[in-house]
Amino acid sequence: MRDFGEILEDVERRIAAACVRAGRARDEVEIVAVTKTHAEDVVREAWEHGLRIVGENKVQEAAWKKPASVSGPDWHLIGHLQKNKVRPALELFDFFHSVDSAALLDRIETIASEIGKRPHVLLEVNVSGERSKSGMKPEEVPAVLEHAFAHCPSVTIEGFMTMAPFVPEDKVEETRPFFRRLRELRDEMETRFDAGFPRLSMGMSGDFEVAVEEGATWVRLGTVLFGERPKTKIVRAAEDADETTVKVMD
Ligand SMILES: *Cc1c(COP(=O)(O)O)cnc(C)c1O
Repeated sequence: MRDFGEILEDVERRIAAACVRAGRARDEVEIVAVTKTHAEDVVREAWEHGLRIVGENKVQEAAWKKPASVSGPDWHLIGHLQKNKVRPALELFDFFHSVDSAALLDRIETIASEIGKRPHVLLEVNVSGERSKSGMKPEEVPAVLEHAFAHCPSVTIEGFMTMAPFVPEDKVEETRPFFRRLRELRDEMETRFDAGFPRLSMGMSGDFEVAVEEGATWVRLGTVLFGERPKTKIVRAAEDADETTVKVMD
């Protein structure tokens, strides 16, 4: 097995090449190291190799992993946030990539102002229109932004997030229109609201180079960095009490 430093070097090279192709500066793109389902040692490894952002998709998993691993990384919630988990989520995470409704923004605002947090939020947009994908429709974005500006003073909307449809490796070009659409939507919203939305969270292990070419500022990388995710889930005390120690995922 190759060591993590070599794997990361290879990913870095691929990101740098995509930046060159798009005429972008390498420092416009940051890796979100997606450590979900992995143990806390993976967070340490990422940190020790210079990665500064950790992405998790479940509040309960971050609740044990974050205190068990190094302090230093920014923790980003990349998965759907349920309303009843907003309070613990605000304690654990600095950035929220998947906010998909005005109602969820309201909940975040209520708790954030109560406990004195200033969360950074991306709006998740379903640009592909696939029914299986979460996120708001592109045409809903202006109203949600208006709502955020009018009613959510604790929240900063930093930009937008999307997931492209899953495609086989040799068809990765097919993801390009979705990433491009998110960038164009961002540009339209900046003009419309005379505001800056600098962050675009798009691109995963299978399609990050295309996403970088289309303007991604955060690529969310799991498998390409840490290998296939374990089929058994690590469950720690901080997780739901009804879960046993090891549980087969899905
Ligand atoms: C798991 C996950 C990723 C990382 O996926 P890989 O294909 O393993 O890189 C990215 N984004 C979200 C929202 C995820 O849940």
